[in-house]
Amino acid sequence: MAPSFTPRSFTRRLLCPLFGLSILIAAGCQTTTTTSTAGLPGPNFAGPSIRPPAYTPPVIAAAPQMPKPARPAPLPANVPASWIPIASAEHREWTWIVVHHSATEVGGASRFDKDHKAKGWDELGYHFVIGNGSDTPDGAIEVGPRWPIQKHGAHAKTPDNKYNEHGIGICLVGNMDNHPPTQKQLASLTRLIAYLADTYHVRQSDIIGHKMTGKSTDCPGRYTDIAEIRRMVAARRTMVTAEAPGPQPGDELMQAAAR
Ligand SMILES: [Zn+2]
Repeated sequence: MAPSFTPRSFTRRLLCPLFGLSILIAAGCQTTTTTSTAGLPGPNFAGPSIRPPAYTPPVIAAAPQMPKPARPAPLPANVPASWIPIASAEHREWTWIVVHHSATEVGGASRFDKDHKAKGWDELGYHFVIGNGSDTPDGAIEVGPRWPIQKHGAHAKTPDNKYNEHGIGICLVGNMDNHPPTQKQLASLTRLIAYLADTYHVRQSDIIGHKMTGKSTDCPGRYTDIAEIRRMVAARRTMVTAEAPGPQPGDELMQAAAR
């Protein structure tokens, strides 16, 4: 019997192999994507175990322990550090500033320290010595060992000793019975006294010469003019406290004193 060759049967004959082929392709794909489950852990029906991460406290860097900086009082301009007493110095009220002369043409703190020890004193009796170009440069200000520790002076003995206890002793090197102090000595003296008077609140009238303590002496010499020194100090103090910027009268004097 001859096969019936209708369009419908033709279509069925054509599509069936194609359909089978597509199944084979699909199956082939399936075999390549299905991997073996052997070796994998079995299913966990208890559900995933969620383990919270262990708590580690945040590392906070400790603030570095900086040593507390010493806070010295602000240093006024042009004031040498050696003029500032040490932090552990005893507190002493300074009422007077007593000016002396050495009555010798040569000298300095070191030489006078030996002289005073030879007299049986503990050490240099003055707090400051201002040179005249002999042992130290003209106008150089030496700070004695008493000053940094605020020790009483040994320069103006009186029955009540008040000028030693509360008087700052400054010695000008030279014999001012024969001549006045040098210009550089006067400039340095003015600068030093102005600073001390401002810092320790010494009245203008309490800037005195040694003989004004009542002692029988002509120290600081007949050519040392205390009234003129007070006037220069007053001008210097006014100049320092004035708020006028720029060069001030007396600056050249100060620079000379600083050298
Ligand atoms: Zn004196």
